[in-house]
Amino acid sequence: MNDQTLSPASPIDLALDTDSVTDKLLEKYSRETVLSVRRWSANLFSFVMTRPAHFRFTAGQFARIGLEIAGEAPIVRAYSVVSSPFAETLEFFSIVVPDGAFTSRLNSLKAGDQLLLERIPYGYLTLARYQEPVPQDLWLLATGTGLAPFLSILQDFSVWSSYRNIVLAYSVRSDDELAYVDEINSYPEIFADHNSAAFKFLPIITRNPNAALHARLPVLIGNGGLERAAGIPLNPYSSHVMLCGNPQMVDDTRNALKARGLTMNRRGVGNIAVENYW
Ligand code: FAD
Repeated sequence: MNDQTLSPASPIDLALDTDSVTDKLLEKYSRETVLSVRRWSANLFSFVMTRPAHFRFTAGQFARIGLEIAGEAPIVRAYSVVSSPFAETLEFFSIVVPDGAFTSRLNSLKAGDQLLLERIPYGYLTLARYQEPVPQDLWLLATGTGLAPFLSILQDFSVWSSYRNIVLAYSVRSDDELAYVDEINSYPEIFADHNSAAFKFLPIITRNPNAALHARLPVLIGNGGLERAAGIPLNPYSSHVMLCGNPQMVDDTRNALKARGLTMNRRGVGNIAVENYW
């Protein structure tokens, strides 16, 4: 062998390396094209990308999305799918964390850019996990971008025929962080008929004392304010409660629900299912 073949810096070797790295990457991920980006506020945006035929998911699941960076391993993060499982494209709702490795880069995303999408979806924040109690009242409790999986669940026809009541409580700090309001208000018209679940949308704006609901979710559960606003009770016999978003909110809300006699859902039995975003 001569030196040239041994040298790792040979352009031919580098090309082979790059090809094999790319091949390996594409075993796990597909490359998808961003179709549109929608800004909600300085630190919130949504994006839509192409959906490959192989990517099948259940409403409530999350995808793993990656950014390719020249000469480095891709940065990959979990993202709940916003879209209906029946949609032709995939939509996601993102925070911008100013120093965040992923979102500080994702913030400059535009139509035509490419993102990696791991080939399989993940997660158990899905309605299939509930067997007992049987579906009656569904409570979807979100902070911030934790709204995302509930948007997908609400765009699945089966949820509307399975439950008699659906409550979506969506907590944000300020009015400008309240995203998807028009879409949420349009869901009953699109997905429900006269036999379907009654739907109550309860926005909570914690830094707006004039908002109809402005206390944190655990407080609103403890003082009965959430149930009064929803017009139905929370109880172990009829409530399925899903929590998603800020881990502190998830913990405190879970404890407030347990104090009311509700239990964690395990092996199909129990009321509460949770997903922490960090
Ligand atoms: P990171 O280094 O990942 O996070 C830095 C810090 O930013 C965290 O410690 C936390 O304080 C804060 N942070 C992270 N994510 C959020 C958030 N969503 N809202 C407010 N503060 C946050 N993020 C989304 O924006 N949309 C989603 O649909 C989404 N789905 C997720 C699903 C799952 C199962 C999990 C585990 C996480 C999900 N996340 C989602 C969080 C996401 O994976 C990243 O953490 C986020 O994109 C920030 O990445 P980063 O590298 O910029 O910062």
